[in-house]
Amino acid sequence: MKILVARVPEEGFILEGEEPASILAWEMEQFVKVGGDISYRFSVKHVLQELLVRGEMALAADIQCSRCSEFFSTSIGVSDFLRVYSIPEGTDEVDITEDLREELVLHVPAFPVCADECVGMCTQCGVNLNQVTCDCVEEEKPNPWSALDELNL
Ligand SMILES: [Zn+2]
Ligand SMILES: [Zn+2]
Repeated sequence: MKILVARVPEEGFILEGEEPASILAWEMEQFVKVGGDISYRFSVKHVLQELLVRGEMALAADIQCSRCSEFFSTSIGVSDFLRVYSIPEGTDEVDITEDLREELVLHVPAFPVCADECVGMCTQCGVNLNQVTCDCVEEEKPNPWSALDELNL
């Protein structure tokens, strides 16, 4: 997603709309499947040789529940996006795609749950206890989400 510097008036303007999630080149499909569009609303200001972009965005996504491992639909929201780009003389456009991706990744919940009442999986037979019950004796629950900690984001 690019901002054309020449289009930014001195007093700034509001940039809002939607971009397809495909621009993000998302790499966390294993845990978070992005879908739909990124909706955003940014205030863009051109101050001296800097472009100030702040605002909010949201992205529809299917995220893996940390308790039961089922994917559920939710939205990743960023309410505090803020970046300052230096724009030396002759800069035509600023590409903010990488920063959008970075902020969205940071706002993926660490321990997402499909529902407050989700009871997760049985640690022994692996059944989804939201759907069926089993006769196993309960032990400590595993956290399928912990693999994410090993990803270098
Ligand atoms: Zn769940
Ligand atoms: Zn069981």
